[in-house]
Amino acid sequence: MSADTAPETTDTTAAKPLIRFENVTKRFGENTVLDNLCFSVQPGKHVTLIGPSGSGKTTILRLLMTLASPDEGTIEVNGRHLYPAQEKERREARKQIGMVFQQFNLFPNMTALRNITEAPVRVLGLSRDEAEARAKELLEMVGLGDRCDAKPTQLSGGQQQRVAIARALAMRPQVLLLDEVTSALDPELVAGVLDVLRDIAHSTDITMLCVTHEMNFARDISDEVLMFDAGRVIESGSPEKIFSDPEQERTREFLSAVL
Ligand code: ADP
Repeated sequence: MSADTAPETTDTTAAKPLIRFENVTKRFGENTVLDNLCFSVQPGKHVTLIGPSGSGKTTILRLLMTLASPDEGTIEVNGRHLYPAQEKERREARKQIGMVFQQFNLFPNMTALRNITEAPVRVLGLSRDEAEARAKELLEMVGLGDRCDAKPTQLSGGQQQRVAIARALAMRPQVLLLDEVTSALDPELVAGVLDVLRDIAHSTDITMLCVTHEMNFARDISDEVLMFDAGRVIESGSPEKIFSDPEQERTREFLSAVL
């Protein structure tokens, strides 16, 4: 291609990752859980982390949530440093991240609506009316528009998890982290939660970083799959490539055990 053609290749924003891990090492005592890890996620992409239990996937999400800190390396979110960083910069970087946990962690004595409005009012400074209008839209989106006034104990696990998804989105994060969000659910409730997440993945431009054992879901929503083993990415690629034609024996073994 000659130098005076193809302006489409000159888009400099395309290469700027939303999440960047560079040479990140995390140890717990003698146990090196993440080993000089490097990876990045581009804006709007959905990246799924797969691999055996104990390979470090949840630790990555916990580092992004600042629930743990790395021993070495750099973590950036949208160009801001999470590590190493001064507390103020870390707080700003952290604001761009929302997470849904295995256990839904809703406030037990608040209604679904109040669970969703609390942080936008307290942290983002929204008026209660604004926060409630947005929370109602989000409850509608997750199929619970008629359950605004229900307390968590009046909702099934799947419904509670859908409230937790709405709560994470209410903070308008750039990145949504999903940590095995269906693993605490009764089997018949899993599909409803995954359908909601599929909708969000396909209808919004939010960036997703997802740890899951639901391989069909991973295949449906992912732009890229990273296969972990012992704190390292041993293979990465499109879901078609990783699930149908993996290069590493370790990936094949793992997939044959879980599929
Ligand atoms: P995965 O999500 O792939 O199952 P994790 O990130 O949860 O893996 O765990 C990776 C390793 O780190 C495991 O060996 C686990 O026992 C260890 N680990 C995680 N959290 C802690 C902790 N708070 N203290 C000590 N070891 C931990």
